[in-house]
Amino acid sequence: MTKWLLCDNMIEYWNPQIERMSLDELEQIQEERLRHLVDYVYTHSPFYKKRFDEAGVKPEDIKTLDDLQKLPFTYKQDLRDNYPKGMFCVPDTQLVRYHVSSGTTGKPTVVGYTKNDIHEWAKSLGRALTSIGVGRGDVLQVSYGYGLFTGGLGLHYGAEEVGSTVLPISVGNTDKQLELMQDLGTTTLACTPSYFLYMAEEAKDKGIDFQEDTGLKTGIFGAEPWTEEMRKRMEDATGIKAYDVFGTSELSGPLFTECTCQDGIHIWGDQFIVEIIDPETEETLPEGERGEIVITTLTKEALPLIRYRIGDYTILNKEPCECGRTHPRIMRVTGRVDDMLIIRGINVFPGQVESVLMKIPEVGEHFMIHVDRINEMDTMKIQIEMNDEAFSDKVNDIISLEKKVASALKSVLNLSVGVELVEHGTLPRSIGKSKKVIDNRKL
Ligand SMILES: [Zn+2]
Repeated sequence: MTKWLLCDNMIEYWNPQIERMSLDELEQIQEERLRHLVDYVYTHSPFYKKRFDEAGVKPEDIKTLDDLQKLPFTYKQDLRDNYPKGMFCVPDTQLVRYHVSSGTTGKPTVVGYTKNDIHEWAKSLGRALTSIGVGRGDVLQVSYGYGLFTGGLGLHYGAEEVGSTVLPISVGNTDKQLELMQDLGTTTLACTPSYFLYMAEEAKDKGIDFQEDTGLKTGIFGAEPWTEEMRKRMEDATGIKAYDVFGTSELSGPLFTECTCQDGIHIWGDQFIVEIIDPETEETLPEGERGEIVITTLTKEALPLIRYRIGDYTILNKEPCECGRTHPRIMRVTGRVDDMLIIRGINVFPGQVESVLMKIPEVGEHFMIHVDRINEMDTMKIQIEMNDEAFSDKVNDIISLEKKVASALKSVLNLSVGVELVEHGTLPRSIGKSKKVIDNRKL
């Protein structure tokens, strides 16, 4: 690892030659790898050969990065339709691992990994962890699920790559989590933001102060969308630095995090090409415009994906980052296409609701959105817990706070929303991905 002195911060890089290379050099690597990739999938994957033939493209048509747009998209449904291994490019003897993610409907998706795929995955997270100051001497408590889900093992290998000590505790058993966090000196915690909120509540009940009683300084939170406003709350309440992590099981689970600048997530350009498209017209959008993220893998062997439609909305930023890394950044993911609610013709993301609520100090971190259709009319009601401190038994206080919340939501969502304030601890807690929406229209 090389240390660089930039401004007054000591910045470390896992691989400075790669992470700081000029955008021109990076794009040259991408172009070479893209040409190799299209040859590779055309030769090794009957699925891609058919898909390319149907679209009328041959590998030799792809010469520059601009030619990427000639290639057809890949969808999650393709993985399901070719269950379990119809899209793999290597024989079974090359595989060292499977991860399987179960969707809410239909067949699960299966991703196979070669030894090199696992190594590239660890390398990606190794760079990411270094970019948030996690390395040798750190104890990383991995409180994501281990097993078929990619979260636990993903962070695990990344942390070992940079020489951190891993505490592979997985999800749940919160008493043990807090005990070992103190006894073994956890410095970094990786879990869903919902689980961190739950852990923080449990800690408070036990009189454990994260700042005073633990060595925790960094949190890596993901596997569900969360907002900038939630970050501020978590950091203020616990004194840690909270970082967003990005990835999806079809690519390799967690792959990228923000750097210490907390201004976007670096996507390693030598491993992946990012595009942002308009999901309706499917045209590539210019840098800076919000759209759906599309990713092409450049180094994967077992299951390379061409222009994979992840379904998350974000913005691409190719400006050099203050941390000195040149690789493009995606800005905080504002929600998955799948999570979008359409209420009376208006698009609403649960993240928008969270952003509004977290700016209101009297309101706690837990809320539940209820959507219904009454007399042919969509309705949205939000139950929100009050902060302990703000809790009042005066009916007038509660009514005026409900009005305040409803009007804040209306100004952002352009939608009238019912608001019901409830006592702290009323709503269900989650140790994995939390459920923030109950849509009765679908029941
Ligand atoms: Zn950066």
